[in-house]
Amino acid sequence: MTKKQSETDIIVVGSGASGAAVTWSLARAGFRVICIEQGPWVDPSAFPVAHDDWQYQMRTEWAYHPNVRRLPADYPVNDDASAIKLQMYNAVGGSTIHWTGHVPRFHPSDFRVKTLDGVAEDWPISYWDLERYYDLNDEMMGCSGLAGDPANPPRSPRQMPPIPIGPDGEHIGRAFDELGWHWWPSDVHVNSTDYKGRKACNLCGPLGNGCSRGAKASTDITYLPDAIKAGAQVWDNTTVFKIATGPDGRATGVEYFDPEGELGFLSARAVVVGCNGIGTPRMLLHSASDSHPDGLANRSGQVGKNLMFHVYAGASGLFENLDEPTYKGPLACIIMSQEFYETDESRGFKRGYTFQMGRGIGPAPTAISNVPWGEDHHDEFAARFGKNLGLGVIGDDLPEEHNRVTLDTSRPDRFGIPAPRVVYRLGDNSRKLLAHGVQSARKVMKAAGASRIMESAFSENTGWHLMGTARMGDDPATSVVNQWGQAHDTDNLFIVDGSLFVTAGGVNPTPTIQAVALRVADYIAHERGDLK
Ligand SMILES: Cc1cc2nc3c(=O)[nH]c(=O)nc-3n(C[C@H](O)[C@H](O)[C@H](O)COP(=O)(O)OP(=O)(O)OC[C@H]3O[C@@H](n4cnc5c(N)ncnc54)[C@H](O)[C@@H]3O)c2cc1C
Repeated sequence: MTKKQSETDIIVVGSGASGAAVTWSLARAGFRVICIEQGPWVDPSAFPVAHDDWQYQMRTEWAYHPNVRRLPADYPVNDDASAIKLQMYNAVGGSTIHWTGHVPRFHPSDFRVKTLDGVAEDWPISYWDLERYYDLNDEMMGCSGLAGDPANPPRSPRQMPPIPIGPDGEHIGRAFDELGWHWWPSDVHVNSTDYKGRKACNLCGPLGNGCSRGAKASTDITYLPDAIKAGAQVWDNTTVFKIATGPDGRATGVEYFDPEGELGFLSARAVVVGCNGIGTPRMLLHSASDSHPDGLANRSGQVGKNLMFHVYAGASGLFENLDEPTYKGPLACIIMSQEFYETDESRGFKRGYTFQMGRGIGPAPTAISNVPWGEDHHDEFAARFGKNLGLGVIGDDLPEEHNRVTLDTSRPDRFGIPAPRVVYRLGDNSRKLLAHGVQSARKVMKAAGASRIMESAFSENTGWHLMGTARMGDDPATSVVNQWGQAHDTDNLFIVDGSLFVTAGGVNPTPTIQAVALRVADYIAHERGDLK
């Protein structure tokens, strides 16, 4: 961390998928950018994958839930009233430290669900507004995959060929073929060959908690080194306490706690927030002031509302005659199917879902999560371990106002910032969608010749996609920011993370988060010379 100037052009809060991309883009455009991140730089040799007790570490200091990890950078969360439990990582690189790097894009229809299906709202932007930013982001993160997927618009050649789908991927692919259903190798931000100084994946397995080879892209090793070369600063271990505003309601800078716990103030011409779909509404609500009594940028009352996760379910099967044990190979999605992505009224629900094929997991998580306890535990373990392949159903999650983030003052973090309180219940559309998904996944497992099929009707520990809590729109009465991520109430405050999603799509959100963030940065660079 560089000590210690008191003013800059742009402050970016958060160094995850979105914040790092904006920091890079604006630094290259000649702005003085300081990215403030509450967590530390992570040493890749510390990742669980480099240690014999990796499975234990994944449940303790590298756990996905911040209340389990309880590291100094982790703020407490109250998700007691949420049907889906939160997952995030707080460090330089944000949750991309933990992500698995599966990067499907939204479909053009995802931006027009009100027009097409009469549900939720349309986005104020289209797929085509984002296309070149999706491409730019793939270039920066490095995408392994195969162009030509018939379920999606044509796209430019991927930077690297797909990660090998292996005999297990081929096996499930043949089952999709037998049913006549779409499938395609997954696009991933994991290197299949060496790329931009980062090594190719060695297919060792648990990339979900960080890759010591750097084969999996995370923004601490993609965007941020280039951003720093372009002149940006990253202040790590520094927590933004509040975004400050003046009597005219404009952002003036941030109050922050430095690594020694001392309070400081950094003034800026603009503040960009990329704290994710939970951290951002928390920050905005906590930054209430005389000019923003109900929370910053909250004149519409929409901050914190319309929280969306993705809803998950699935089916897995046991396979006796595979060439390799199924835990071998990276944990990312291997192949995906979008046979049921678009709305078909005859199914009884709106929008749809993607199938993601995943591999088996390590012995300890298999024993703890996949095998029932009791007398038969050891026999069941022997029957399942290394033989299970699964199809996850990731479903679109329509926005509902009652699903929301508020502040819980009874659980402050070490600096006195209240915890986010998350209230979320599963909607009726999601229930129907998941039921359809499980039955369809079962058909694939059957076609693949599974000796036994197990169903999971709903997964609780899947709150890793955080969206919707400061949504974009043209109407200041019903949205928080405009199509440029600019707060309707405060012209020098921008939001760039999943908070500004209008709908969730039926795919992982991060390439869309990063494409939107890069588009916002381009707007600032070209239209807001006054912020330099
Ligand atoms: C286990 C797991 C697997 C995933 N797999 C995938 C996948 O395969 N594909 C996919 O598309 N997505 C995946 N995701 C989701 C993906 O990681 C997120 O969508 C993405 O990282 C969100 O980017 P973001 O910039 O909005 O927030 P984040 O990446 O979460 O970054 C937010 C940053 O803000 C910082 N911050 C918050 N508050 C403050 C404050 N007050 N002061 C300073 N800093 C602050 C945090 O410390 C954090 O570093 C996964 C997530 C997890 C947890």
